[in-house]
Amino acid sequence: MLRVAVVGSGPSGVYAAQALVQQREVPGVRVDVLDRLPAPYGLVRYGVAPDHEKIKSLTGSLRSVLEDDRIRFLGNVEVGTGPLTTDRLLELYHAVVYCVGAARDRPLGIPGEELAGVHSATAFVSWYSGHPDAGAFDLGGVRSAVVVGAGNVAVDVTRILARGAAELAPTDMPAAALGVLAGSGVREVSMVARRGPSQGRFTTKELRELGTLPGVATRVDPAEAALDPAYGDPEAAAALPAAARRNLEVLRGWARPDTGPAAGEERRITLRFYLRPVEVLGTGEGRVRALRFERTAPDGRGGVTGTGTYEDVPADLVLRSVGYLGVPLPGLPFDAAKGTVPHAAGRVLRAGRAPVGEYVAGWIKRGPTGVIGTNRPCAKETVSSLLQDAGALARRELARDPLDALRAAGLRPVEWPGWLAIESAEAELGLSLGRRSVKIPDWAGLRGAAGLA
Ligand code: NAP
Repeated sequence: MLRVAVVGSGPSGVYAAQALVQQREVPGVRVDVLDRLPAPYGLVRYGVAPDHEKIKSLTGSLRSVLEDDRIRFLGNVEVGTGPLTTDRLLELYHAVVYCVGAARDRPLGIPGEELAGVHSATAFVSWYSGHPDAGAFDLGGVRSAVVVGAGNVAVDVTRILARGAAELAPTDMPAAALGVLAGSGVREVSMVARRGPSQGRFTTKELRELGTLPGVATRVDPAEAALDPAYGDPEAAAALPAAARRNLEVLRGWARPDTGPAAGEERRITLRFYLRPVEVLGTGEGRVRALRFERTAPDGRGGVTGTGTYEDVPADLVLRSVGYLGVPLPGLPFDAAKGTVPHAAGRVLRAGRAPVGEYVAGWIKRGPTGVIGTNRPCAKETVSSLLQDAGALARRELARDPLDALRAAGLRPVEWPGWLAIESAEAELGLSLGRRSVKIPDWAGLRGAAGLA
């Protein structure tokens, strides 16, 4: 038998577990999927926007993997800090696959970033997704919000800020977050990119959705967009990848000069281009009042250069959405520049030491890029390395059921029935609020629902 621990129950962890039990080369593989949180599914539960029900429904296929007899979910188990070190895990399992994602956000690195009202998009996403570590947001005094970045996360937070609470009520958003969004004073959301319309990192489907929100006007300044050679020149556009061409088409459909809010418009989204953030400007009380940008210009090689002209965009709230960053896990090597664990085809590389049965998959392996499905081939590559090593790894005698060892170390794992109890408690909570299932957003609530008093 080959006993494997997968650390992290997001898509990459679940796909790794699936690849391990579905292969035929090495019979008798058993997998424990460990997670720091009592709930599984990683960013599908705590990152995918609540109004993206189709993507959320992926939990159905992740669930069927975790319900496989050869796989065991063990939530509420933290690896790296506390008793369960990386070395201890290697004593309990023949192999360990780390699928811990990229938990931190990238900072902008500009003066004023510490002012009140400046947050990472990941903090905002965690809050409305009911992550038990999330802080609180207060949108009562916020009229203008600026979102920095032009990726899908920027699109998500822009959309959630602009969407009416009535449309979010059918989702599983925690009651407190829904209440804050219902009382939100946000009228203007500017999503600001440092490069041009043809260089947005968003996907067309997500972008297009910004133009479909009831009561929301979505606008692009045609003169600003036209700084991008591909925006107005069909020949330059023809050289672009198809996705960028589709994005341009969507953006052109929103181009009109700023004539102020029209009747019936409750909120406005403005997509801005060629502006790079240089400073957060504050009030005397230490709150953000505006974000200063330098106007940029295309450099002809896909990048931009500064022009020395500046624009201050008023903001009561700034969300920086400039990508995620991996976090070092104590005991594992880490490439701080890339925010990933050094590896060869998924085998963790340690200086001066041969690989010993440690592997990585997902964002901690390749960085925070790609859609959920990208994790499937990524996990497969890692598992295929592991299976090549299996003969040598499985020779080692293991002590006993790792679950006993985890409990003996003082850990209190939430097993699958515990997770199902959380699901039931969330369904009941939803019923009591006249909604569908509603997330429990705190540790005590999650642990209590799982039966850990
Ligand atoms: P991302 O796609 O890497 O986008 C990051 C954005 O931040 C880019 O527009 C980048 O501009 C900008 N940026 C970086 N540093 C900056 C700086 N110092 N100043 C100003 N702008 C800066 O990251 P993400 O949006 O966090 O998404 C992460 C991954 O999750 C992506 O693969 C995304 O597709 C995926 N995701 C998918 C969905 C979905 O499918 N619905 C939803 C959410 C996330 P440059 O291009 O100029 O560098």
